[in-house]
Amino acid sequence: MATLGNPALVLNADFRPLSYYPLSLWSWQNAIKAVFLDRVSIIENYNAEVHSPSLTLKLPSVIALKDYVAPRRRPAFTRFNVFLRDNFVCQYCHEQYLANELTFDHIIPKCIGGKTTWTNVVSACTSCNVKKGKRLLKFTDMCLDKMPLKPTSEQLQHNGRNFPPNYLHKSWRDYLYWDIELEN
Ligand SMILES: [Zn+2]
Repeated sequence: MATLGNPALVLNADFRPLSYYPLSLWSWQNAIKAVFLDRVSIIENYNAEVHSPSLTLKLPSVIALKDYVAPRRRPAFTRFNVFLRDNFVCQYCHEQYLANELTFDHIIPKCIGGKTTWTNVVSACTSCNVKKGKRLLKFTDMCLDKMPLKPTSEQLQHNGRNFPPNYLHKSWRDYLYWDIELEN
């Protein structure tokens, strides 16, 4: 899925983005293919057009699936989703980092039987991870505000909304943020 050159924001049939993080974007080629296959409706257009011998078409900037896709109930246990659960904040020093600056810390170290699970792994910056080393927290002066939990897909989607992608076309804004404004 290309994101360069007039990507289309893909909404689910309920008009919410299919995914916030990563933001659901299709290349204009895939978007137009889906329009012709009758899988999506065009909600908004770019001014840019494509031409074929028989037809001129504005590139869609926002499309919505005709059939609702149910979100995954259990989010995948991935490094990235752990960081997203923790809002990209080191759980020891509470500073925010970029994903590539964060590491996985096992609360109960692996070398003494700690498992790689949602409830034993937290996001940690490199210096906190090195400082804690292969020790239990009670042997350090470090502590966690809260024990980590297994997130729901909704919680991850909610956290993802706090991290807007670098490129936002103005026609996407209503569809990305309307539900947040209703909550406030
Ligand atoms: Zn830290």
